[in-house]
Amino acid sequence: MSPPPKEKRGCDTALKTPAIPKYAACRHSATVELVLPPSSVHHATKRCLHCGVFLKWLPKPKTLLRRRLTAFKLAQLGMCEGLSAWERVFIRDASQRKKLSPRQRGTLDQLCATYLGAKHHEGVV
Ligand SMILES: [Zn+2]
Repeated sequence: MSPPPKEKRGCDTALKTPAIPKYAACRHSATVELVLPPSSVHHATKRCLHCGVFLKWLPKPKTLLRRRLTAFKLAQLGMCEGLSAWERVFIRDASQRKKLSPRQRGTLDQLCATYLGAKHHEGVV
């Protein structure tokens, strides 16, 4: 159930992947980003412009921003004094995850409120 996605030329160098596997025929130097319909789980895909091979999923810009913010919060928390043992474990565990569950997110917000103060506890974009 996917209508033909609109082609969008990818000129966003910020999303370049450093480790692109080398293929004899195609090195995928030119990529194209296809934005998927809103019903899709993913925001967009990145494909090779020449051979069309799937390279990666692209997260929503909002998701990227939130991840960066989460990583920042976790880094800040990791430097806090007075964390309990389980809080340290939680922070270490959470920083290795790509994605937090709503429950983990709640815990993180609580830790931020406790250790980082209210100014860091504003909602995510
Ligand atoms: Zn290719």
